[in-house]
Amino acid sequence: MSDMGDDKVPLLTARDLTKTHGRSRALSGASIELAAGEILAVTGPSGSGKSTLLHCLAGIVRPDEGAVTYAGERLDELPEKRLSELRRTEFGVVFQFGQLIPELTAVDNVALPLLLAGATRADAQARAGEWLERFGVRGQAELRPGEMSGGQAQRAALARALVTGPKVVFADEPTGALDSLAGEQVMTALVRTARECGTAVLLITHDAQVAAYADREIRLTDGTVATAGVTA
Ligand code: ADP
Ligand code: MG
Repeated sequence: MSDMGDDKVPLLTARDLTKTHGRSRALSGASIELAAGEILAVTGPSGSGKSTLLHCLAGIVRPDEGAVTYAGERLDELPEKRLSELRRTEFGVVFQFGQLIPELTAVDNVALPLLLAGATRADAQARAGEWLERFGVRGQAELRPGEMSGGQAQRAALARALVTGPKVVFADEPTGALDSLAGEQVMTALVRTARECGTAVLLITHDAQVAAYADREIRLTDGTVATAGVTA
């Protein structure tokens, strides 16, 4: 049996990735599969290669060796132009903090990906407002990130990551800078919306309570994934 269950075709796969930063080996033979609509937690100690794996899967960083395949396309071989198009249309990203543009209000931050995709200003503003509502932060629409709480800013960041209807959201420690109540609110909002929209989520965390929101968990150690199903 495949580790995703027999009936699911993977949407995103990585095979035998290696990546070295200078003299430091971040990935050494990491493989992973993510099914459409699946919420997958990636856990592991600090420095085990989690962020590097996410960057390779999201087409932000090219692996030194190995293959990353998204819906039949080899991301590791694509020209930069097609990669950035995929990142804009198919993927959303949320980091620990700081990915909102500080000079823009929450609603303008969420509207931005829609404007880049060609929406009119009025349409982008209206849809951004709906997505802030969905994440419980419509009341903060006119605030800049620095004027919101950490949890509110992360919910606005989720709205921005999801507003274009991506197939995959990459979340790198999205609750890492939050207290546990704010973290729960962020995770509840992320999981509910991902389920409603059929969005797959690759969720990096070192918090077991956060990982418990996922359908499945894999553990990274020294740049490789522990073999699924082998427990002893
Ligand atoms: P994690 O997210 O699990 O903490 P990372 O993927 O960030 O792990 O890092 C894995 C290893 O690669 C670490 O030893 C880290 O120091 C190193 N590393 C990651 N990014 C860089 C970089 N840009 N330059 C140099 N070393 C890096
Ligand atoms: Mg990291």
